[in-house]
Amino acid sequence: MTVKKRLLTGDRPTGKLHIGHYVGSLKNRVIMQESGEYDPFVMIADQQALTDNARDPEKIRKSLTEVALDYLAVGLDPAKTTIFVQSQIPALAELNLYYLNLVTVSRLERNPTVKSEIQQKNFERSIPAGFFTYPVSQAADITAFKASVVPVGDDQEPMLEQTREIVRSFNSIYGKEVLVEPEGYFPPKGQGRIPGLDGNAKMSKSLGNAIYLSDDADTLRKKVMSMYTDPNHIHIEDPGQVEGNVVFTYLDIFDDDKKHVQALKEHYQKGGLGDVKIKRYLNEVLEAKLAPIRERRLEFAQDMPAVYQMLKEGSQKANAVAEQTLKEVKEAMGLNYF
Ligand code: ATP
Ligand code: MG
Repeated sequence: MTVKKRLLTGDRPTGKLHIGHYVGSLKNRVIMQESGEYDPFVMIADQQALTDNARDPEKIRKSLTEVALDYLAVGLDPAKTTIFVQSQIPALAELNLYYLNLVTVSRLERNPTVKSEIQQKNFERSIPAGFFTYPVSQAADITAFKASVVPVGDDQEPMLEQTREIVRSFNSIYGKEVLVEPEGYFPPKGQGRIPGLDGNAKMSKSLGNAIYLSDDADTLRKKVMSMYTDPNHIHIEDPGQVEGNVVFTYLDIFDDDKKHVQALKEHYQKGGLGDVKIKRYLNEVLEAKLAPIRERRLEFAQDMPAVYQMLKEGSQKANAVAEQTLKEVKEAMGLNYF
């Protein structure tokens, strides 16, 4: 029997999940779940969400079930994937505390993802300490499950590097082979960080520039019709630009008919193809992908007690695994006094 690789990943419950999450992470998760090669754990990171939303716990509470429904809608199957809630696993916070001592402030300041988030959120020097150190808490999440594979979008590479450093330093200080070094598993080129509707470099639930998996057909159409294209493409007959034109970026990612996309691009560059036409086409492509997800989501939403029960059972299972790792960690550190 081959041993299945432990997989850990997750999302912050700061809103509903969007098509960036779908291509950046969810799609890979479902493929990996179905391959049978992995033992997947997927975490809803409510504690991490609180690091920059401490004053809005209601948002986190509401988003928890939205994210759970998004998971079920895209095909995560609780019979194959353990879906759990971060705050229900006390060992994670305890591991975080020990790891914080293995990391310096200057190392944390160098994390490029955190750096750009601090800028985006206008934190300057008033960063919540918990937010500043969240990469360490992610290391706790990953290592608690001894995950060797972490399927995530491109912005998570620095977190994986930070985790590997903590693992190496823990193992060398307190005894080898307690913790496992994880590898990232990234989506195909161009899909690890999809831009927002406004052309912003990252579609994000916190930036209000997203197409959500749960958007109805009408909302989807309105969002697509309002999308950023080429600001200099004023008349239909003008030659248009496809680079940085989000409509074409999304077509590249979501349309399986690559030849048709290529033909559209050539026509657009030459002139004579209007924005309304390409947007209508993109809308059709997205609607075909999102309609089945939306329908499944509505079905699962009919029985919310079952969704909570699923999260409860997943959390119990995850708790047992994390407790065991914490026990080994404390033993390695000599904190097993009694
Ligand atoms: P927030 O703004 O609250 O941080 P987010 O949209 O960045 O929300 P996260 O929960 O932080 O979402 O990220 C969950 C996963 O989705 C991560 O693996 C991340 O890399 C991936 N991801 C997030 N945004 C995108 C995107 N625009 N394109 C591709 N992958 C993405
Ligand atoms: Mg994020």
